[in-house]
Amino acid sequence: MKTPKADNEYICTHLGDDYSRFHGAVVPPIYQNSLFVFEDFDRFVEAMKDEQNNYIYWRGNNPTVEIAEQKIAALENGEKCKLFSSGMAAISSAILSFVKSGDHILSVSNIYGPAINFFRYIEKFGISHTNLQSTDPEEIEKAITPNTKMIYLESPTTMTFKLVDLPVVANLAKQYNIRTIIDNTWATPLFQNPLDFGIDIVVHSVSKYLSGHSDLVGGALITNTDLMNKIFYDEFQLFGGAMPPNEAWLLIRGLRTLPIRMKAHQESTLKVAKFLQQHSAIKKVNYPALQNSSDYELGQKLLKGYTGLLSFELEANTFDSVRTLINSLKIFKIGVSWGGFESLILSPNYGHNTESLVKAGINPGLIRISVGLEDCDELIHDLDQALSLV
Ligand SMILES: *Cc1c(COP(=O)(O)O)cnc(C)c1O
Repeated sequence: MKTPKADNEYICTHLGDDYSRFHGAVVPPIYQNSLFVFEDFDRFVEAMKDEQNNYIYWRGNNPTVEIAEQKIAALENGEKCKLFSSGMAAISSAILSFVKSGDHILSVSNIYGPAINFFRYIEKFGISHTNLQSTDPEEIEKAITPNTKMIYLESPTTMTFKLVDLPVVANLAKQYNIRTIIDNTWATPLFQNPLDFGIDIVVHSVSKYLSGHSDLVGGALITNTDLMNKIFYDEFQLFGGAMPPNEAWLLIRGLRTLPIRMKAHQESTLKVAKFLQQHSAIKKVNYPALQNSSDYELGQKLLKGYTGLLSFELEANTFDSVRTLINSLKIFKIGVSWGGFESLILSPNYGHNTESLVKAGINPGLIRISVGLEDCDELIHDLDQALSLV
């Protein structure tokens, strides 16, 4: 397995600390101010010539937020990062930066639900969308139409954890003059750097592993300087979904332990996945780190590591068995989101939506877990006792 670049540790812990600027403060301060004042009007006029690189108003720039932006840009090997008030704020801004009325968007199955809902929402502006039931580059190429302007990707995909061959799709998109966006939340910038494969924009929900403590909601958009020059003045400043400095400060704190947390998530999750795989109540485990996964080879090519979110499918492929399992767990908590300390469990099968799930390629017995940082043997024991009941 490839190892993440060595200076990630430095980026997460110390990049941007800048002790001399902050009186030696070991932790950077929270700049809780909406505006910045100027000594004379000439300096103000000068600053307004380049709003992107000056402190004027927090909807544009804030020094605390900027430290977190520097770190995330560096982790993704990107030139620029802007932080948003949620992952969805970053995602919707990225999408709208690339399309206009009359354009068509292509996405792979299965992507984050609210992203799909957003594609449906912008239909009213005359922007059409196809959600492919596939992650295969050949199928993607077949689905391209003359007005396709953007391909929206997730790898691994939501709930089903299938991988997309990102360098191949990035190349394909370039041939057709199509822009690409990927939601890289699952992998984190430690384990996958899609800009290196030629993807145009990377988005993250920093509400998950990057902050890591289930105590904030935020988003990141990372891209090159050219694209950010437009996005900063348009989608970032005009929609106004900037991250508040308190959130950025918590994010900086979370990032300090990102490498050590991801190491622990990875080790535990592989053990949990192997336990699940051999259990007689389980038909299939969807996790590309497993050697019998159909995406194992592709994972070795694209990923530098594997995180703690996976799904499995019960032999008893019913809502009742899903409900029994989820209700029988003691350590795994029931809840949305993931990427914090606590282990979580959820199923997209709510009983009343089974038919539409099957249409979207998801089996009724599918359950998603986020393996947290509790003792791994206890997590396995918890799953074992609950699985004996289904
Ligand atoms: C949570 C999540 C989002 C949305 O992020 P918010 O911060 O909740 O707006 C987007 N993509 C993925 C894969 C997520 O898990």
